[in-house]
Amino acid sequence: MNATMTDDLDLRVKRLKESLGGRVSVPAHHYQRPNIVRHADLVGDSYRLAVAASRSEASYIILCGVRFMAESAAILARPDQRVLSPDLAAGCPMADMIDLAGASMALASLKAAGVADPAPVVYMNSNADVKALAGSLGGSVCTSSNASAVVRHYLDRGRPVFFAPDRNLAMNTAKRLGLDSGAVFLVGKDGSIRGQGDPSRGLLFAWDGFCHVHRRFTLDQVRAARQKHPGARLIVHPECDPELVDLSDDSGSTEGMQNAIRDGGPGRAWIVGTESNFVLRLASEYPDRTVEPLALSYCPDMSLITRETLICSLESIVAFESGSGPLVHELRIEGQLRDQAASALRAMVDIVEGRS
Ligand code: SF4
Repeated sequence: MNATMTDDLDLRVKRLKESLGGRVSVPAHHYQRPNIVRHADLVGDSYRLAVAASRSEASYIILCGVRFMAESAAILARPDQRVLSPDLAAGCPMADMIDLAGASMALASLKAAGVADPAPVVYMNSNADVKALAGSLGGSVCTSSNASAVVRHYLDRGRPVFFAPDRNLAMNTAKRLGLDSGAVFLVGKDGSIRGQGDPSRGLLFAWDGFCHVHRRFTLDQVRAARQKHPGARLIVHPECDPELVDLSDDSGSTEGMQNAIRDGGPGRAWIVGTESNFVLRLASEYPDRTVEPLALSYCPDMSLITRETLICSLESIVAFESGSGPLVHELRIEGQLRDQAASALRAMVDIVEGRS
């Protein structure tokens, strides 16, 4: 019975996509379930998905990922493009750890501590209003693959950085850039600034947020994996604890991990510390090498996207085109919010592509 249901759902997705042809594009994040990935037109990290959405010819984009990803696609989409999320309840707990009021309060707190003209650098994993605040203050979005380049860009221009929301990515970036620990501070949800040095001479101020999926990995798991697979290379995501990153052989974004495993060639062994849907997919894509999760850790929000919710999105487009129903779970970001958030996203692309 399960097999029949599986076939039936896959067939429905396939037929609906065929009926809509090139008018619909279904990009999916690396952390999506395998039965979503197999229907995706493109699979990538949040940066790749946002850039691809901005260049897509399709009239409808169904973003299979969490809400901030669909928001980013809606911010960068053409005015005539419609962006849908299969399930608007798929949020990101880390993105929700800072809102506009919290970010504004943190910046006011830095100003009160004598920090001159901090540049907000907000992780792609943030909500549209926080991205818009960054854009309005000449700041930028960043991703795990370009955080070092974006932070360095502002430091080179004499602007200290307020980084939100992920403290681990901020601390790992500070280490990668060789920043003195006395120049790095944590900013609490009450606006408190914690660190060893004088904040007015600080270079990086990190909001105290985290990703629960990556925080689950422990040093004991690293030791056990090293014992079980001696000789394997350990690669972890920079949202992991800095101590764990220090013990690994490398850290990188999902795209970086995928490239390392692909380019490492057959016969190599890898232990990978990131979301499990992605790691297990890499293992099945590269059967000629060993790819083991550091431990199983799934993102429950990513897993809210199912074939049923994807079918609902596709059916709503069919109904919308025939005039018999509305688009379901459409995301629209408009006006100043869109302009300012787009400015922060474009700042990232310009920095990464060397145009600013
Ligand atoms: S894996 Fe972490 S950062 Fe990514 S969507 Fe889930 S909670 Fe958010």
